[in-house]
Amino acid sequence: MTERRTLGRHTTMLCGEEKGKYPWGNPLLVEGSDGRALLDSALSVPIPDVDVVLLSHFHEDHTCGLSARPDLDVRVHPADLEAVRDLDAFFAEGGYDEPEFRQELVERYAHGPIPQAAPLGEDAIDLGGVQIVPVHLPGHTAGHCGFLIEPDGVFFTADVDLSSFGPFYGDARASLSDMRSSLHRASQIDAAVYSTYHHKQEVRDRAVYAELLGAFAGVLDARADRVLDLLDRPSTAGDLVGRGVVYRPGKVPTYAATSELKMAQLHLDELVEQGRIVREEDRYQRV
Ligand SMILES: [Zn+2]
Ligand SMILES: [Zn+2]
Repeated sequence: MTERRTLGRHTTMLCGEEKGKYPWGNPLLVEGSDGRALLDSALSVPIPDVDVVLLSHFHEDHTCGLSARPDLDVRVHPADLEAVRDLDAFFAEGGYDEPEFRQELVERYAHGPIPQAAPLGEDAIDLGGVQIVPVHLPGHTAGHCGFLIEPDGVFFTADVDLSSFGPFYGDARASLSDMRSSLHRASQIDAAVYSTYHHKQEVRDRAVYAELLGAFAGVLDARADRVLDLLDRPSTAGDLVGRGVVYRPGKVPTYAATSELKMAQLHLDELVEQGRIVREEDRYQRV
Protein backbone atom coordinates (compact mmCIF):
# COMPACT_ATOMS: atom_id res chain seq x y z
CA MET A 1 0.00 0.00 0.00
CA THR A 2 1.30 3.41 -0.95
CA GLU A 3 1.54 5.76 2.01
CA ARG A 4 -0.40 8.97 1.36
CA ARG A 5 0.15 12.38 2.89
CA THR A 6 -2.30 15.23 2.65
CA LEU A 7 -0.48 18.40 1.60
CA GLY A 8 -3.55 20.54 0.93
CA ARG A 9 -7.30 20.29 0.40
CA HIS A 10 -6.80 19.03 -3.18
CA THR A 11 -3.23 17.73 -3.01
CA THR A 12 -1.97 14.34 -1.81
CA MET A 13 1.59 13.02 -1.86
CA LEU A 14 1.94 9.38 -2.92
CA CYS A 15 5.06 8.44 -0.95
CA GLY A 16 7.67 6.23 -2.55
CA GLU A 17 9.95 3.91 -0.62
CA GLU A 18 12.78 5.31 1.51
CA LYS A 19 11.08 8.75 1.56
CA GLY A 20 11.45 8.86 -2.21
CA LYS A 21 15.25 8.80 -2.10
CA TYR A 22 16.55 8.28 -5.66
CA PRO A 23 15.65 6.04 -7.52
CA TRP A 24 12.33 6.16 -5.61
CA GLY A 25 10.14 9.25 -5.70
CA ASN A 26 7.06 11.03 -4.36
CA PRO A 27 4.48 11.93 -7.04
CA LEU A 28 1.54 14.22 -6.23
CA LEU A 29 -2.13 13.59 -6.92
CA VAL A 30 -4.22 16.74 -7.43
CA GLU A 31 -8.01 16.41 -7.39
CA GLY A 32 -10.49 19.08 -8.51
CA SER A 33 -14.23 19.02 -9.14
CA ASP A 34 -13.63 18.56 -12.91
CA GLY A 35 -10.64 16.25 -13.00
CA ARG A 36 -7.59 14.64 -11.45
CA ALA A 37 -3.92 15.08 -12.30
CA LEU A 38 -0.82 13.11 -11.41
CA LEU A 39 2.47 15.03 -11.15
CA ASP A 40 5.14 12.48 -12.18
CA SER A 41 5.00 8.72 -11.63
CA ALA A 42 7.42 6.65 -9.52
CA LEU A 43 8.81 3.20 -8.88
CA SER A 44 6.52 1.10 -6.67
CA VAL A 45 3.70 3.68 -6.78
CA PRO A 46 0.74 2.36 -8.84
CA ILE A 47 -0.60 4.91 -11.34
CA PRO A 48 -3.96 6.13 -10.01
CA ASP A 49 -6.99 6.83 -12.18
CA VAL A 50 -6.32 10.34 -13.54
CA ASP A 51 -7.26 12.60 -16.49
CA VAL A 52 -3.79 13.98 -17.09
CA VAL A 53 -0.17 13.28 -16.10
CA LEU A 54 2.11 16.31 -15.87
CA LEU A 55 5.80 15.41 -15.97
CA SER A 56 8.41 17.60 -14.30
CA HIS A 57 10.99 16.32 -16.82
CA PHE A 58 11.94 13.33 -18.95
CA HIS A 59 14.08 11.27 -16.51
CA GLU A 60 13.25 7.57 -16.13
CA ASP A 61 12.50 7.71 -12.40
CA HIS A 62 9.65 10.19 -13.14
CA THR A 63 8.06 8.27 -16.02
CA CYS A 64 7.84 4.73 -14.54
CA GLY A 65 5.14 2.63 -16.16
CA LEU A 66 3.71 5.39 -18.37
CA SER A 67 4.87 3.89 -21.67
CA ALA A 68 2.48 0.99 -21.04
CA ARG A 69 -0.46 3.44 -20.84
CA PRO A 70 -1.21 4.81 -24.34
CA ASP A 71 -4.62 5.91 -23.01
CA LEU A 72 -3.10 8.57 -20.75
CA ASP A 73 -2.86 12.29 -21.57
CA VAL A 74 0.79 12.99 -20.69
CA ARG A 75 2.29 16.49 -20.88
CA VAL A 76 5.81 17.77 -20.45
CA HIS A 77 7.67 21.03 -21.21
CA PRO A 78 8.43 21.34 -24.98
CA ALA A 79 12.21 21.24 -24.31
CA ASP A 80 11.87 17.71 -22.84
CA LEU A 81 9.12 16.48 -25.16
CA GLU A 82 11.22 14.58 -27.73
CA ALA A 83 13.12 12.73 -24.98
CA VAL A 84 9.76 11.54 -23.61
CA ARG A 85 8.35 10.58 -26.99
CA ASP A 86 11.39 8.87 -28.43
CA LEU A 87 14.08 6.62 -26.94
CA ASP A 88 16.93 7.81 -29.21
CA ALA A 89 16.19 11.39 -28.15
CA PHE A 90 16.16 10.21 -24.51
CA PHE A 91 19.72 8.88 -24.83
CA ALA A 92 20.91 11.92 -26.83
CA GLU A 93 19.52 14.28 -24.21
CA GLY A 94 21.03 12.38 -21.29
CA GLY A 95 24.35 11.69 -23.02
CA TYR A 96 24.69 8.28 -21.40
CA ASP A 97 23.90 5.10 -23.36
CA GLU A 98 25.29 1.78 -22.14
CA PRO A 99 23.74 -1.68 -22.63
CA GLU A 100 23.29 -2.24 -18.88
CA PHE A 101 21.51 1.14 -18.58
CA ARG A 102 19.15 0.19 -21.45
CA GLN A 103 18.39 -3.07 -19.65
CA GLU A 104 17.86 -1.32 -16.31
CA LEU A 105 15.48 1.14 -17.96
CA VAL A 106 13.19 -1.65 -19.08
CA GLU A 107 13.55 -4.09 -16.19
CA ARG A 108 13.63 -1.68 -13.29
CA TYR A 109 11.81 1.46 -14.42
CA ALA A 110 9.41 -0.02 -17.01
CA HIS A 111 10.66 2.90 -19.08
CA GLY A 112 9.83 3.31 -22.74
CA PRO A 113 8.76 5.95 -25.23
CA ILE A 114 5.47 7.78 -24.63
CA PRO A 115 4.63 8.80 -28.23
CA GLN A 116 1.31 10.44 -27.38
CA ALA A 117 2.96 12.92 -24.98
CA ALA A 118 1.96 16.53 -25.71
CA PRO A 119 3.64 19.86 -24.94
CA LEU A 120 2.86 21.44 -21.58
CA GLY A 121 1.78 25.06 -22.05
CA GLU A 122 2.65 27.98 -19.80
CA ASP A 123 -0.94 28.48 -18.66
CA ALA A 124 -2.43 27.05 -15.51
CA ILE A 125 -4.25 23.73 -15.78
CA ASP A 126 -7.70 24.11 -14.23
CA LEU A 127 -9.13 20.98 -12.60
CA GLY A 128 -12.17 22.77 -11.16
CA GLY A 129 -11.56 24.68 -7.92
CA VAL A 130 -7.84 23.95 -8.13
CA GLN A 131 -5.20 25.10 -10.60
CA ILE A 132 -1.72 23.81 -11.41
CA VAL A 133 0.74 26.43 -12.64
CA PRO A 134 3.92 25.16 -14.36
CA VAL A 135 7.10 26.89 -13.14
CA HIS A 136 9.97 26.38 -15.60
CA LEU A 137 13.16 25.56 -13.65
CA PRO A 138 15.70 24.45 -16.30
CA GLY A 139 19.25 23.31 -15.57
CA HIS A 140 18.74 19.71 -14.40
CA THR A 141 17.17 19.18 -17.85
CA ALA A 142 16.25 21.89 -20.36
CA GLY A 143 12.53 21.41 -19.72
CA HIS A 144 12.57 20.73 -15.97
CA CYS A 145 9.50 22.28 -14.28
CA GLY A 146 8.09 22.65 -10.81
CA PHE A 147 4.35 23.09 -10.26
CA LEU A 148 2.48 25.51 -8.02
CA ILE A 149 -0.91 24.22 -6.87
CA GLU A 150 -3.45 26.89 -5.88
CA PRO A 151 -5.38 27.60 -3.73
CA ASP A 152 -3.60 24.87 -1.75
CA GLY A 153 -0.32 26.80 -1.75
CA VAL A 154 1.70 23.67 -2.52
CA PHE A 155 4.90 24.13 -4.55
CA PHE A 156 6.19 20.86 -6.05
CA THR A 157 9.90 21.49 -6.65
CA ALA A 158 10.49 18.15 -8.49
CA ASP A 159 14.26 17.44 -8.68
CA VAL A 160 15.22 20.64 -6.92
CA ASP A 161 15.11 18.05 -4.17
CA LEU A 162 17.00 19.89 -1.39
CA SER A 163 19.23 16.82 -0.87
CA SER A 164 22.68 17.11 0.67
CA PHE A 165 24.13 15.70 -2.60
CA GLY A 166 23.09 18.94 -4.27
CA PRO A 167 21.95 19.74 -7.82
CA PHE A 168 22.59 17.31 -10.67
CA TYR A 169 23.51 18.73 -14.09
CA GLY A 170 25.32 15.76 -15.62
CA ASP A 171 23.13 15.29 -18.71
CA ALA A 172 24.43 16.19 -22.15
CA ARG A 173 22.17 19.25 -22.34
CA ALA A 174 22.23 20.28 -18.69
CA SER A 175 23.23 23.85 -17.85
CA LEU A 176 24.94 25.25 -14.77
CA SER A 177 23.92 28.86 -15.44
CA ASP A 178 20.28 27.80 -15.93
CA MET A 179 20.54 25.81 -12.69
CA ARG A 180 21.74 28.91 -10.82
CA SER A 181 18.89 31.07 -12.20
CA SER A 182 16.32 28.34 -11.52
CA LEU A 183 17.40 27.99 -7.88
CA HIS A 184 17.00 31.75 -7.55
CA ARG A 185 13.54 31.57 -9.15
CA ALA A 186 12.56 28.70 -6.81
CA SER A 187 13.63 30.82 -3.83
CA GLN A 188 11.13 33.54 -4.84
CA ILE A 189 8.09 31.25 -4.70
CA ASP A 190 5.89 31.82 -1.71
CA ALA A 191 4.04 28.66 -0.67
CA ALA A 192 2.51 27.04 2.41
CA VAL A 193 4.07 23.65 1.61
CA TYR A 194 7.19 22.90 -0.45
CA SER A 195 7.20 19.36 -1.74
CA THR A 196 10.17 17.57 -3.32
CA TYR A 197 10.04 14.51 -5.57
CA HIS A 198 13.05 12.96 -3.77
CA HIS A 199 14.37 13.01 -0.22
CA LYS A 200 12.78 15.84 1.82
CA GLN A 201 9.16 15.15 0.82
CA GLU A 202 7.66 18.23 2.47
CA VAL A 203 8.74 21.45 4.16
CA ARG A 204 6.07 23.63 5.75
CA ASP A 205 8.16 26.57 6.91
CA ARG A 206 9.40 29.17 4.43
CA ALA A 207 12.49 29.95 6.52
CA VAL A 208 13.47 26.27 6.64
CA TYR A 209 12.87 26.02 2.89
CA ALA A 210 15.10 29.07 2.31
CA GLU A 211 17.82 27.52 4.45
CA LEU A 212 17.65 24.13 2.69
CA LEU A 213 17.57 25.75 -0.75
CA GLY A 214 20.54 27.94 0.21
CA ALA A 215 22.52 24.87 1.26
CA PHE A 216 21.46 23.05 -1.93
CA ALA A 217 22.68 26.00 -4.06
CA GLY A 218 25.83 26.24 -1.91
CA VAL A 219 26.90 22.83 -3.19
CA LEU A 220 27.51 24.51 -6.57
CA ASP A 221 30.10 26.82 -5.03
CA ALA A 222 31.68 24.01 -3.02
CA ARG A 223 32.15 22.04 -6.26
CA ALA A 224 33.64 25.10 -7.98
CA ASP A 225 36.06 25.48 -5.06
CA ARG A 226 37.12 21.83 -5.38
CA VAL A 227 37.78 22.35 -9.10
CA LEU A 228 39.93 25.38 -8.26
CA ASP A 229 41.85 23.41 -5.62
CA LEU A 230 42.59 20.66 -8.13
CA LEU A 231 43.95 23.18 -10.64
CA ASP A 232 47.20 23.66 -8.74
CA ARG A 233 48.67 22.18 -11.89
CA PRO A 234 47.34 22.44 -15.47
CA SER A 235 44.60 19.82 -15.90
CA THR A 236 42.04 18.70 -18.45
CA ALA A 237 38.38 18.19 -17.52
CA GLY A 238 39.05 14.44 -17.67
CA ASP A 239 41.85 14.78 -15.08
CA LEU A 240 39.26 16.03 -12.56
CA VAL A 241 37.02 12.94 -12.79
CA GLY A 242 37.16 10.60 -9.76
CA ARG A 243 38.77 13.26 -7.57
CA GLY A 244 35.84 14.34 -5.46
CA VAL A 245 34.44 17.24 -7.52
CA VAL A 246 30.94 15.71 -7.46
CA TYR A 247 31.17 12.15 -6.12
CA ARG A 248 33.27 10.95 -3.26
CA PRO A 249 35.97 8.78 -4.85
CA GLY A 250 35.04 5.11 -4.68
CA LYS A 251 31.34 5.73 -4.02
CA VAL A 252 29.92 6.32 -7.48
CA PRO A 253 26.97 5.17 -9.60
CA THR A 254 27.65 3.56 -12.99
CA TYR A 255 26.97 6.77 -14.94
CA ALA A 256 29.23 8.80 -12.62
CA ALA A 257 32.24 9.13 -14.92
CA THR A 258 30.09 10.58 -17.72
CA SER A 259 28.12 12.92 -15.47
CA GLU A 260 31.11 14.04 -13.40
CA LEU A 261 32.99 14.90 -16.60
CA LYS A 262 30.04 16.98 -17.81
CA MET A 263 29.58 18.73 -14.46
CA ALA A 264 33.32 19.43 -14.10
CA GLN A 265 33.32 20.86 -17.64
CA LEU A 266 30.43 23.20 -16.79
CA HIS A 267 32.36 24.47 -13.74
CA LEU A 268 35.51 24.94 -15.83
CA ASP A 269 33.52 26.98 -18.39
CA GLU A 270 32.00 29.09 -15.63
CA LEU A 271 35.38 29.70 -13.95
CA VAL A 272 36.92 30.75 -17.31
CA GLU A 273 34.03 33.16 -17.82
CA GLN A 274 34.60 34.58 -14.33
CA GLY A 275 38.29 35.10 -15.17
CA ARG A 276 39.41 32.87 -12.29
CA ILE A 277 41.13 30.26 -14.50
CA VAL A 278 42.54 30.23 -18.02
CA ARG A 279 42.37 27.65 -20.74
CA GLU A 280 45.29 26.66 -22.93
CA GLU A 281 44.35 24.06 -25.53
CA ASP A 282 42.51 21.43 -23.46
CA ARG A 283 44.19 22.28 -20.14
CA TYR A 284 43.01 24.66 -17.46
CA GLN A 285 44.92 26.44 -14.71
CA ARG A 286 44.37 29.07 -12.06
CA VAL A 287 45.15 32.67 -12.93
ZN1 LIG B 1 15.86 14.04 -12.85
ZN1 LIG C 1 14.51 12.38 -10.18
